[in-house]
Amino acid sequence: MPVIEVRGLHKEYGPKVAVDDVSFTVQAGEIFGILGPNGAGKTTTVECVVGLRKPDRGRVSVLGLDPQRDHGELRELVGVQLQESQLPDKLRVQEALDLYASFYRQPADSGELIARLGLADRRDTAFGKLSGGQKQRLSVALALIGTPKVAVLDELTTGLDPSARREVWGLISEIRDTGVTVVLVTHFMEEAERLCDRVAVIDNGRIIATDTPSGLATRAGGEQYIRFRASAALDESLLAELPEVSGVRRDGAQFTVTGNEGALQAVITVLIRHGVIAQHLRVDQANLDDAFVALTRHDQRPSEPDDNSKKQAGEPGGHDQPPSAPASAAGDNSKKRASRPDKERNHLNEARRG
Ligand code: ATP
Repeated sequence: MPVIEVRGLHKEYGPKVAVDDVSFTVQAGEIFGILGPNGAGKTTTVECVVGLRKPDRGRVSVLGLDPQRDHGELRELVGVQLQESQLPDKLRVQEALDLYASFYRQPADSGELIARLGLADRRDTAFGKLSGGQKQRLSVALALIGTPKVAVLDELTTGLDPSARREVWGLISEIRDTGVTVVLVTHFMEEAERLCDRVAVIDNGRIIATDTPSGLATRAGGEQYIRFRASAALDESLLAELPEVSGVRRDGAQFTVTGNEGALQAVITVLIRHGVIAQHLRVDQANLDDAFVALTRHDQRPSEPDDNSKKQAGEPGGHDQPPSAPASAAGDNSKKRASRPDKERNHLNEARRG
């Protein structure tokens, strides 16, 4: 049985359709990525999954529970870190963990968690004095303090420098290795490529593809990029007319040829025939970056049904109710608050309310 099952999820904010008929499943032990451009509906989707938002239509099941109906039970099982970690500046690392631990029936050992997340020497440091990477590690710790079975992490590495980002990636892998199922919302293709077992690409509120990162890259054309410097004059139309080639770009003697998996052979054959040597030859496979651009390039596109999904008619549902949801670890979407009054909530109060 999937750990998370989302069917026909639909959410509107006034006239704005934020999430439109979204369906996906997450299996136990997976790192499942939700990838998409700004405003695509990623956060709204995960907010519905963890019970912070009430869908207008559709069905969400997490560990067999309904996030709206069974939120009390679910908050013990799902750890949430939403965008833009924010805690009171003066709250120390150990204090924050102890406070969050008090919300759970079976909290993790905070000392052990602090050590595991590399914060042992920051135990007495106030939140306001932590670096960006340390704040993110603390927010992961807070998402894990309740020993959850599922961790939902929203744009965890946004704003981090490359080495801090890699550190946090290591942490996410470790979390999965302890048996926690992870849902990771991200903008970063590299992050999705390195960490995720499967990725749902969401655009304009609709899922446009769900696949493994390499499956997505292949699906985006399975294209190759052949780059070389021609040793002698070469008419680019000789390459452009090859059936295996979809594009040729030329900058002086430097060529970039795009094509299918037979393109390299075809290009080399033409070069040999014309006595041209390909200097500094490099061949790159299309990656998730290319897939993302290709998939989100068009404005209108039908949404893709999920693996083994049978679209279900959505259940009627009202609009947001004041959330009484799983404690979100140090997450408050503070950047979005100005324009989203209904997101205004103090995560600490919320966590206290439980
Ligand atoms: P980002 O990557 O920028 O965080 P996202 O993919 O997480 O974006 P959402 O935050 O889910 O996208 O927003 C989806 C759409 O719904 C956007 O157009 C956003 O402006 C709008 N939206 C989100 N929350 C609200 C709200 N509370 N009130 C009104 N509109 C909202």
